[in-house]
Amino acid sequence: MTAFDATRRAALLGAGATLAACAAPAPLVGPPARGENPFALGVASGEPAPDGFVIWTRLVRDPLAVAGGFEGVPAEDVAWDVARDKDFRDVVRQGTFRARGEDALSVHVELAGLEPARDYWYRFRARGQASQAGRARTAPAPGTLPARLRFAVCGCNHYEHGFFAAYRHLADEAPDFAFHYGDYIYESGAYRGTEPRARLHAGGVCRTLDDYRRRYAQYKSDPDLQAAHAATPFIMSFDDHEVANNWSATRSNASGESPEAFLARRNAALRAWYEHMPLRLSQKPSGQGVRMFRSLPFGDLAAMHVLDTRQYRTRQPCGDTIKPACAGMLAADAQIVGPAQERWLYERLADGRVRWNFIAQQVAMMRLDMGERTFNMDSWAGYVAQRDRLHAFLQRRRPANPVVLTGDWHKNWVGHLKADYDDPSSPVLAPEFLSTSISSDGDSLPSATTVRRHLSDNPHVRHYSGTRGYMAFALTPGRLEATLRAVGPVVRADASVRTLARFAVAAGDPNLHDA
Ligand code: FE
Ligand code: CA
Repeated sequence: MTAFDATRRAALLGAGATLAACAAPAPLVGPPARGENPFALGVASGEPAPDGFVIWTRLVRDPLAVAGGFEGVPAEDVAWDVARDKDFRDVVRQGTFRARGEDALSVHVELAGLEPARDYWYRFRARGQASQAGRARTAPAPGTLPARLRFAVCGCNHYEHGFFAAYRHLADEAPDFAFHYGDYIYESGAYRGTEPRARLHAGGVCRTLDDYRRRYAQYKSDPDLQAAHAATPFIMSFDDHEVANNWSATRSNASGESPEAFLARRNAALRAWYEHMPLRLSQKPSGQGVRMFRSLPFGDLAAMHVLDTRQYRTRQPCGDTIKPACAGMLAADAQIVGPAQERWLYERLADGRVRWNFIAQQVAMMRLDMGERTFNMDSWAGYVAQRDRLHAFLQRRRPANPVVLTGDWHKNWVGHLKADYDDPSSPVLAPEFLSTSISSDGDSLPSATTVRRHLSDNPHVRHYSGTRGYMAFALTPGRLEATLRAVGPVVRADASVRTLARFAVAAGDPNLHDA
C-alpha cells in the first residue's frame, strides 16, 4: 500500500467511524465488536432506476478464508440506512436484511419509492460496526429530458497485471453511473512464470463455488475498486473470465473439460457473480443460467441496452482466437446473442422513446481486420450473419442515435459500424467506443508500426491505442462527448491519469468528430 493509499483509506475509515459514533443509531443486531471489520469487501450500488437502486455488501472476517471466515454461520442480520445527505442526518429508508450463509452472507437490498435524478448515501451496520458510506444516484424520471448525463465505461481489471488506480480516478469523477463490460475477475491460478507481476492471485484455477467466492473476495479487497463502487452505481455485466476463458453457452473452451463438469462450474461462477454484485433478486441465477440482458432507461434522454454475448452464443468458428477468415464466420445459424435476445434488442431499439440508444456489451462489434483478413473469432466477427442482421436493422429502421459500448480487447478502439466495411462510401450506421482495460495486460504498449497498420487496415477506425484506463462520457440531448482516460504505469498503485483523446457525436449524425 502506498502512502497515498494509506492516507485515503484512513480518511474513508475515519469517516465511517465518525458516522458510527455521532450519527448512527445504536447497532440493531450482532454481538459486540470483536475488533474485526466485517465490511472489508466494501459496499456497492447498482441497477439505477428512477425510483431506486440496489445496495450491496458481503460480510467477511477473513476475506480469503472459506466463507470469508464465517463458515457454518447460517445467517446474520445486517442493518442498512439510506439518506439524502452524506452525513446521514436525513435518513429516508432503514431496514434489516437477513444475510444467509448459503448466499455467502451477501446483502442485496432493492430500494424503491425514492426521488428521481438525485444523490443518496447508504451504509450498513453489523456485528457492532458500520461500513463505509457509499453514494448512489437514481435515474431521471420517465417523461423528462435531463440536460446532462455523465457515465463511465470500464472493465478487464486483472489483479495480477496491475493496480486499479484507474478505478480511483473513475471514483474521483463520480459519474452518474458506470457500465462494467466484464472480466471483473480472472479465473486463472496464481501466476508461476518469471515475468514481474504486480501481485498474485490466491489459489489455483477457479472451479468450485468456494474458489470463485475467494477470487471475488480478493479482488473486492482492493481499496481503489471499493472506492469506485462507493462513488457511483454500477450497471454490471459479465464476459468470459467471470467463468472461464472464451466460454460459449454451456461449453468450455478448454479441451478435456466435460460438458457436465463445465455446466457445474458455470453455475458456481454465475452464482458467485451474483453474490458479489449489486444486482436484483430477479437476476439471481438458477441452474439454467441468469437473465443478464436488460434495458435501463434514463428519462427520455437515453437507454442502456445491456447485452449478454456469452450465455447464448454458438461456438467460436475457425478454431477461435485471431484466425484467417473461414466459412464458419458466415454460417447462417451462428449467433452471439441468441434469437430471443436479438428480437428483444430490436424491440428496445424500435421503442422510440429515448434520444440515444446505447448498446452496452462485451466484445467488438465493428469489423476489425487484424491484418491480411484475420479476425477475432471470439468477437462479433465470428458471427457475421447476426451482425449483418443488426446492421441491416440499424440502416432500415434508424433507431434514434445508436451507440455501441464495448470492452474485452485491452485496447481502445473508436470507430464506425458500416453498412459495408469494404466500401468506404457506404453509410456509417453508429459509432462504437471500445474501452481499454483497467489493468489487464499491464503496461505493455503496441508499437507505432502496429498502430499504423491497424489504422490503415481498418479505415472506419478513428483511434487505436493500448494504454490502460477507462472512458468517460458526457451526454446532452444534442451531443455525446467521449473522453479516453489513460492511467499508468499500473505497476504503481499511485499511477496518474491523463486525457488521451476526445470524440464527439452530434444527435442525428453517427459520424465521429474530434472534440
Ligand atoms: Fe479481459
Ligand atoms: Ca474477455
